[in-house]
Amino acid sequence: MGNGAIALGALAAGVNLVAGYPGTPSSEIIETISHYPHDGLHLEWSVNEKAALEVAAAAAYSGARAMVTMKQMGLNVASDPLMSVAYIGVKGGLVIVSADDPGPISSQTEQDTRRYADFCRIPVFDPSSPEEAYEMIQEAFAYSEKYSTPVLFRPTTRVCHAYASVETPDSFAPKAYEGFERDPGRWVIFPRLSYINHGKMEARNVEVGRDFSSFRFNTVEGEASEKAVVTSGVSYTYVKECLKGHEGVRLIRIATAFPFPEDFILKALEGVKEVLCIEELSPFIEEQILKAAGKHHLALRVSGKLDGSVPHNGENSVELCTGILNTFLGVRTGYDQRDLSDAPALPVRPPVLCAGCPHRASFYAVKKAMKGRKAVFCGDIGCYTLGNAMPLDMVDTCLCMGAGITMAQGLSHMNRDTVSFAFVGDSTFFASGMTGVVNAVYNEADMILCVLDNSTTAMTGHQPHPGTGRNMMGNVVEKVNIEKVLEGIGVKKIVTVDPLALEDSIRAVQECAEETGVRAIIFKSPCVAITKPEKKCAIDTAKCVNCKKCIREIGCPALITVDGRVAIDRNLCAGCGLCSHICPTGAIGGEQ
Ligand code: SF4
Ligand code: SF4
Repeated sequence: MGNGAIALGALAAGVNLVAGYPGTPSSEIIETISHYPHDGLHLEWSVNEKAALEVAAAAAYSGARAMVTMKQMGLNVASDPLMSVAYIGVKGGLVIVSADDPGPISSQTEQDTRRYADFCRIPVFDPSSPEEAYEMIQEAFAYSEKYSTPVLFRPTTRVCHAYASVETPDSFAPKAYEGFERDPGRWVIFPRLSYINHGKMEARNVEVGRDFSSFRFNTVEGEASEKAVVTSGVSYTYVKECLKGHEGVRLIRIATAFPFPEDFILKALEGVKEVLCIEELSPFIEEQILKAAGKHHLALRVSGKLDGSVPHNGENSVELCTGILNTFLGVRTGYDQRDLSDAPALPVRPPVLCAGCPHRASFYAVKKAMKGRKAVFCGDIGCYTLGNAMPLDMVDTCLCMGAGITMAQGLSHMNRDTVSFAFVGDSTFFASGMTGVVNAVYNEADMILCVLDNSTTAMTGHQPHPGTGRNMMGNVVEKVNIEKVLEGIGVKKIVTVDPLALEDSIRAVQECAEETGVRAIIFKSPCVAITKPEKKCAIDTAKCVNCKKCIREIGCPALITVDGRVAIDRNLCAGCGLCSHICPTGAIGGEQ
């Protein structure tokens, strides 16, 4: 997998410290590194991306090689240290992997990490395949050290999740490094230092841009032609596929979008009159080419996203690129689309909470308890965002990590007649929820915090976090107790319940709803994906009146209909028993 290639490339580069926060499409990078012996390597899932980058920056100040991994929106969380470390610079290599998600397949935004490179003035590397990612990440470390700057590494989903073979060494040796040397004039950020370093960064970027002009992954293919396609990342692979056997077009690939390799592009565009830019997310390369064309008075027609030739949103594909190239070249390009007309229709699978997920019971308990009362439900980022699906319909807002808690506060201040709930998972609580709780207590908010604690980071693949009691170095550590954290912050009423004990849970919510201030309910029950069901449930057909209340109320995917009658799919059922609380005739019980 591309993420594995990035991990192995970093190990081959002698990386000493890797930190990150899980987020699709980046999560498998750290998971892969954990499968290799890591003597001399510190590995951690940090509480959030900002913490991860700060830990890694300190390692790079010490001369070590450090890598940080995250998804594109995680870079927003890390943007505070990112901007500053760009000014301060590093001693050892610091590579920040921020995986972009065109589509978006599992994200709130389609933002483009290359914009951050430009914004904070640091180099960015854009691999187009897993093989390249393996080699390019090693070069990224070398460039980082050569220019004493952090660098961004920006794979997109199809690079992260594609498969390929790469040749790796038999064993990996971490880099030998000097350790931190005290030098306040270098490492302590002050306005004067930032001013001086800003000038140095701009001068350095001119040099890096020149250096990138001979970077081996910036390539030109095809004969001299008046038409050229400029592309990057996985779009390069698609375009190459479409142009197979086709002549009369030059194919230019940009692997280093910033600082833009201007000398390279000027040479590559010699004799070219028309350029088509095919890239994912923003028209970054297109804008750079327009800039270069204006600066050097090139008689060049540039098309791409800005003139509508390429869509602004969504992922590119071979099919999409074929259509775009056919229009640009005025001929049919070489790619033969496969006839899939006889393929069976894909099943419709809307995202839904797993069968037996304890979050379903938590949401249902709150829903039951609040029946007839005015309430608002602020969701957050994690599997429990799926509480928005019918029939639960329990997520009224969802913005970004940790925002459910602060949004519930804002709503409570403005809507005094409404009970404001915030739902947050245990991992998100540690990532960025805690600060929101401090804000709520200090600013006298009136809200009920529901921590849906399933003892893992479920949505991204069950990574450990400070509440799980094991860290990424494989060590058993003291758990950080959410209840005690809340006590320490000053939350006066904290109730812990098992959401699968439905009546107790409903009672806890009703009690909290009668009080004011910040109240917290910790719904604690492990994720079904990390526990084995002790039993399954079955329906006693003699008692079942087929009212379908069980299906209508909770939407468990294990509750199905067979020949018009409600049944339980025993392959899916986790035996949580929630449906047995709902059945009015007592028809559901543990399987015999
Ligand atoms: S016991 Fe009922 S609610 Fe729980 S997983 Fe099985 S069918 Fe779904
Ligand atoms: S709620 Fe009970 S009686 Fe109604 S369909 Fe489901 S199992 Fe049958």
